[in-house]
Amino acid sequence: MTFDSKAWLAEAGALIGDAHVLAEEHGDDLTSYTQDWGGKFQGRALAVVRPGNTTEVQAIVKLAARTKVALVPQGGNTGLCGGSTPDDGSRQVVLQLGRLNRVREIDTENNTATVEAGCILQAVQEQAASVDRLFPLSLGAEGSCQIGGNIATNAGGVQVLRYGNTRDLVLGLEVVLPNGELLDVLRGLRKDNTGYDLKQLFIGSEGTLGIITAATVKLYPAPRSKVVAFAGMKSIAQAVCLLAAMRHQLGERFTAFELLSAPAVDLVHCYFPDTPALLEANWPWYVLMEAADGGSDEALREAMQDALMSCLENGALEDVLLASNLAQGNALWMLRENITHAQKMDGGNIKHDISLPISAIPAFVDNALLMLDNAFPGARPIVYGHLGDGNLHFNIAAAADVDPGHWQLRTGEVNKAIYDIVSARRGSISAEHGIGQLKRHELAHYKTAMELDIMHRIKAALDPQGLMNPGKVLQ
Ligand SMILES: Cc1cc2nc3c(=O)[nH]c(=O)nc-3n(C[C@H](O)[C@H](O)[C@H](O)COP(=O)(O)OP(=O)(O)OC[C@H]3O[C@@H](n4cnc5c(N)ncnc54)[C@H](O)[C@@H]3O)c2cc1C
Repeated sequence: MTFDSKAWLAEAGALIGDAHVLAEEHGDDLTSYTQDWGGKFQGRALAVVRPGNTTEVQAIVKLAARTKVALVPQGGNTGLCGGSTPDDGSRQVVLQLGRLNRVREIDTENNTATVEAGCILQAVQEQAASVDRLFPLSLGAEGSCQIGGNIATNAGGVQVLRYGNTRDLVLGLEVVLPNGELLDVLRGLRKDNTGYDLKQLFIGSEGTLGIITAATVKLYPAPRSKVVAFAGMKSIAQAVCLLAAMRHQLGERFTAFELLSAPAVDLVHCYFPDTPALLEANWPWYVLMEAADGGSDEALREAMQDALMSCLENGALEDVLLASNLAQGNALWMLRENITHAQKMDGGNIKHDISLPISAIPAFVDNALLMLDNAFPGARPIVYGHLGDGNLHFNIAAAADVDPGHWQLRTGEVNKAIYDIVSARRGSISAEHGIGQLKRHELAHYKTAMELDIMHRIKAALDPQGLMNPGKVLQ
């Protein structure tokens, strides 16, 4: 039987309201839903559906299951691996979660918030702050990414050092399964040893196992004070020593440790010329650090200053600026956050979001830079990332005299050269951005056969028709 797209759109409209079913057939422009943030992936969708609550999500998923239409769950569409955009066949439907944006409950005694998947991350942070709590997930896209997307990608961000990944912040989930049934494990429990922890399957599953519609997440006491420092150093090995020393001295108060290479900082200065110069001298590597706690600003500043002074004396850093106030601290963070934007403006870079044991990072970087010099002379490594979590964005821009478009054509070669070094050191080819469409071929190569087999069996058990975000993660 031929597929009747008009009838499908009409049925979807009857379930959730015509205004919430967008389609080219209706004259709607779907570009912002069918193209990814980085502009790498452009698909075509039969429709974009925007259900307004969990029951409507169930109804759409049941319709899709009955008519064998594939669904592509989409949050803020800020993912960097093409996970939230459809293929180019005009038969997939984007299921956009933005209208599920209610805060269902904030429990200050249990220190939890129960929020719907479409809540913007920044809104969740603000809701927490309004009751003097902290929701610690924080990343450059927080003004537009959604908590459902964060959970589906197990997002990392800049406070993993202290609070862990998204996985560590989720206590319960509500998920619409591929057959439209509701899995309700929306519990706010910190201890629950009653068999398999099913929510974990969906965290980081990138929409391939079901639609997350709500989550109960952990909150923490809001910090009263925060200090930020920026240090320059000669080598990554120094940065690794600095990390160990600062953690030792500041303990739980140490919340972020971000590495920036000189080319990454130069790129920000090039595309954001108002960015102030921070240290008098130039260094090949820089580190942005943050500490926070519930005490006074003065006490925390003094502790940070003491720790930095002893690191300066021990040779773990060469020069340092301790932000004198919140505004200067924010400017330091802006420099860090603008790297991703500057890279987008620069165009044509090949991105790698890798992780390794922190102790293995200096040797990896030496090894990989040498390999690049030999195999891809002139290529410009733009290295930065969450060194405190062993996670580097090891991005490679085209040589100055190479057309960025031509450079992109060498992605497979460059990836293989870098991932082989990562893999030899038992690292990961995706630390926090996920797999999506971008890395699924590489996943098939670098994951063991046993791991892939188990992943395929889980997918087949939950989504036997293969309708939940096909073409993502698994081949
Ligand atoms: C400037 C910038 C900075 C960034 N910094 C970081 C960073 O520091 N750390 C980091 O980890 N990431 C970072 N990212 C990547 C991105 O923001 C994260 O992956 C984020 O978690 C994606 O959320 P989203 O709502 O935009 O999801 P989307 O991009 O819409 O979707 C991502 C994946 O999740 C699935 N999905 C979305 N919502 C649901 C749902 N409700 N149920 C089931 N599946 C769903 C989609 O199908 C897709 O596979 C950054 C991106 C940008 C643009």
